[in-house]
Amino acid sequence: MAEKIKIAQYWGAGCGGCDVALLDIDAKILDVHAIAKVVVWPIGFDGKLKEIEAMPDKSITVSFYNGAIRNSENEHVAKVLREKSAVMIAFGSCACFGGTPGLANVTNKKEIFETVYKNTPSTDNPNFVTPQEHYKAKEGDLELPKFWDSVKTLDEVVDVDYFMPGCPPTVNLIAMAVDAVAKHVTTGAPLPPKGTVIASDKTLCDECKRERVEKGKRIDKIYQAYEIKPDPKKCLLDQGLICIGPATRAGCGAMCPNAQMPCRGCMGPTSGVTDQGASMLSALSSIMNITDKEAQMSEEQIMTMMMQVKDPLGTFYAFTLPKSPLRRIVTEKKRKG
Ligand code: SF4
Ligand code: SF4
Ligand code: SF4
Repeated sequence: MAEKIKIAQYWGAGCGGCDVALLDIDAKILDVHAIAKVVVWPIGFDGKLKEIEAMPDKSITVSFYNGAIRNSENEHVAKVLREKSAVMIAFGSCACFGGTPGLANVTNKKEIFETVYKNTPSTDNPNFVTPQEHYKAKEGDLELPKFWDSVKTLDEVVDVDYFMPGCPPTVNLIAMAVDAVAKHVTTGAPLPPKGTVIASDKTLCDECKRERVEKGKRIDKIYQAYEIKPDPKKCLLDQGLICIGPATRAGCGAMCPNAQMPCRGCMGPTSGVTDQGASMLSALSSIMNITDKEAQMSEEQIMTMMMQVKDPLGTFYAFTLPKSPLRRIVTEKKRKG
């Protein structure tokens, strides 16, 4: 029997959902077991960083890195795994675009620490003690990772071969990647070109079965999901719910609209779009008739319409703020002021 390939699965700044998703592949796990040995998986079994550092370069066949880069440890392990792996996959929206941890880029380390260690009602910390990077205890010197000011994507710190978006990636996408690697290992079939996003390049609206009114229909009012009971067959956006489908990559099977919930955009944008939030804002302006009418509308009227969107940043950039051209909200002025 041929020697098994080596797989690593690591979590940076994430929630653990991506690790669980890898276990969700049901019978495909047997295909993985047949060809692969998992050599790094902190959530599954104990392992020491020194053991990974001691591995020969490129001796791990594929590394799946989930979670964003929030601190020096996330970045260091990403760099070590890159060195030790032949193929590096950014697994899940946090690794690909920053994900929900990336929304912390509206603030900075100082403000996060002040909130967490001082200003939260349940915190009792009169001396404002915060985690120290170095601490001399009687048992020896202790070290904690450095907490960065900004959340970064995996490809900001290492060279990434493939991207698998989703929060978490769906079983069909994971199975597609497992199949590709299995065929490559067993038959020598070529892997996809470097940089490939393992998902469709159509928009979610293309795979959503809900009926859309392409022209003519415009909305005047935006609703929150709890405010209306939408028609189960019609497009949610046409019914006034902000569904990010027009600005989102297909591949999940339109899971959320199928369950009567608007898409939040976790698959990120298609390859032709650099800024998912701006793309959705433009789609929304068009469906609210702002673009056609703006010559006749006052700025105040446009503002009133757009102010119906609660939490615009969390709505349009829930998963992609660090990857967008905005990258982060500038807080320098606030800090100096
Ligand atoms: S992509 Fe989603 S499921 Fe995966 S680590 Fe990030 S938040 Fe969790
Ligand atoms: S906007 Fe949402 S509900 Fe409407 S077609 Fe697109 S994905 Fe489906
Ligand atoms: S419908 Fe949207 S939010 Fe839901 S899983 Fe698909 S891409 Fe993600």
